[in-house]
Amino acid sequence: MKKILLAFVLAASIATVSSAQEHRCYSSEMNNQALSNNPDLVRQTQELENFIQQYATVERRNNAVVYVIPIVFHILHNYGAENISDAQIHDEVRILNRDYRRLNADTIDLVPAFVGLAADAEIEFRLPSIDPNGNCTNGIDRIPTLLTYSANDQSKLNPWPRDKYLNIWVANSLENTGAAAYAYLPGSVPSPAVDGILSRHNYIGSIGTSDENSSRTLTHEIGHCLNLQHPWGSTNQPGVSCGDDQVSDTPITMGWTSCVLTGSVCNPPVIENVQNYMDYSYCDVMFTAGQVARMRITLNSSVSQRNNLWTSTNLLATGVTQGPQICTPNADFNVNNRLVCQGGDVTFYDLSWNAQVTTRSWSFPGGVPSTSSDSAPVINYPNPGVYEATLVVSNSTGSDSITRTDLIYVSGPQQETVPFIESFEDTSSFPGSTGFVLNYDNGTTWSRVTNAAVSGVASIKINNYTNTRGQIDEWVMPTLDFSNITSPVVMTFYVANAQRNTTSNDELSFSGSYNCGANWVPRYNKSGATLKTTTGVVSTNFTPNASQWRMETVTLNPFKLLPNIRFKFTNTSDRGNNTFIDSINITGTIVNVDEMDEIQLGFALYPNPTTESSTVQFKLSKKQSVSVEVKNILGQTISNVLNADLDGGMHEIKLPALSKGIYMIDLYTGNKHHVRRLIVS
Ligand SMILES: [Zn+2]
Repeated sequence: MKKILLAFVLAASIATVSSAQEHRCYSSEMNNQALSNNPDLVRQTQELENFIQQYATVERRNNAVVYVIPIVFHILHNYGAENISDAQIHDEVRILNRDYRRLNADTIDLVPAFVGLAADAEIEFRLPSIDPNGNCTNGIDRIPTLLTYSANDQSKLNPWPRDKYLNIWVANSLENTGAAAYAYLPGSVPSPAVDGILSRHNYIGSIGTSDENSSRTLTHEIGHCLNLQHPWGSTNQPGVSCGDDQVSDTPITMGWTSCVLTGSVCNPPVIENVQNYMDYSYCDVMFTAGQVARMRITLNSSVSQRNNLWTSTNLLATGVTQGPQICTPNADFNVNNRLVCQGGDVTFYDLSWNAQVTTRSWSFPGGVPSTSSDSAPVINYPNPGVYEATLVVSNSTGSDSITRTDLIYVSGPQQETVPFIESFEDTSSFPGSTGFVLNYDNGTTWSRVTNAAVSGVASIKINNYTNTRGQIDEWVMPTLDFSNITSPVVMTFYVANAQRNTTSNDELSFSGSYNCGANWVPRYNKSGATLKTTTGVVSTNFTPNASQWRMETVTLNPFKLLPNIRFKFTNTSDRGNNTFIDSINITGTIVNVDEMDEIQLGFALYPNPTTESSTVQFKLSKKQSVSVEVKNILGQTISNVLNADLDGGMHEIKLPALSKGIYMIDLYTGNKHHVRRLIVS
């Protein structure tokens, strides 16, 4: 029995260590940064501390009160995995109510020194049923935005008033790549609109994109919102130095990233509270009575308005008292691909939220079928063009609709040929006959300008100077035909960019697609100081002079011999300075029709050399007569392997076993004759 237990503990601790190293709480850095930027916040933090010292009596009076807090989840998403399910959020709320009421069964794992100290915080969390505008809500606010990537305080869209709701923002990734989440302590909130918690989606709940091991991140972060430090003090670095968290019953500790349950490294020696929710051990199961008192007193302080959250007036205003209502759905949808070849299929997904949908009506102008009531219809697009789609959803309480314009781009047979030269001198040259611009935020985007050029007067420009940070703008170039082009295929273009300051990190990338945009192969990427073409920084709105352009060279060999190639330039703005592109030139080796046949035939032997046998591989463009012969070095036929009419497509013919020597493999297709040498060694 003991052996089994030991094995279990070892496995658990290995898993927790790797997870703890991956992403951590980033609250202390954010709070310390806010405090260092604003002396008022230092003063406010001290006032709150004084309040906590003096108001222990008030808390005693409120001891029987269970503080219920309305909690709203803002899901910042770009229709990816970060758009987590309602079920995953409900699971998170369940975990919070379990942990803050000390209903977690794993308190049975507590080491004896802390059994008597693990306290019921008597704090509960509820999803509201009334939003700040008085409308029906399920407490989950879904916001499509590219700010879900590298999220920070600027990503905290649509904050609900913090005196009425505890705001949780959920994102794809955080600006601090090592962080799972961060929260502001009430004393150091830099501005009311950013008060709350920002978390990666895979640390919400224990299901969906998260797991059991990551499921107590919000338990920890809400501790920060309610004025708890890490047990070792106000840093994010456990294991550095022994420190205190201003809570009397949490021992001095250095902090733990693994489950050393009776760990003790500080002086005077004492068993440390490794299992505390505010530590990093990932075997956390408790708050102490002292931490509970501190959180509950904080909920009586007006600092950052925590004292209004749980009032009966507020619970009525946010619909917590009334409980969940049936709302009207908010219509939304997405597609598996915005860019397809002519005749291609697009799958649409109903992503409506805030309520169950009972009836659904799609319309797809230009698509086949053009209407549907399915939740995930597959629509075919037989003709080239740009198409919109509309979804109307409803239930017994009402309906909502959404139209997404310029959504689907279908590439047709019209193709530009190589050499391809574009200097943007003609007004029709941009975005080009079959090219287009993808402007995801409908803000400033790629455009033709006539005040900067390598030669002539025109180029194209993206205005990063006024663009929104994080916004992506793409120019998808006209479709190109590389079907008669062999390597080298090379593109040159000129770029001009300035850095607004030394940390500006505007990014320009270039990629290609051989399936009309379903997938993209990266070919070029420069950003920040690597992208800039000026000396030093340029703090004013940048327009290049003749000497501030640089020629870039990109090899396009992966796309040789293929028709219907799409290329695109992608700008990701850091709100730095402007980027210009001019004089695009794509060249390659153009082959004649006979050579083309030979290349497209793809006649090959494998393995070669071989020890015994080999396989002949070739591709036919259409049905034709084919024969394969094996000849010796003297030209004498030693085996007629094949003589037949074969269909178009790829063929593989196994050769007979051959003794050591050199052979000629002759392949006749129609009236053409091809030879390869085979070595058997
Ligand atoms: Zn923390």
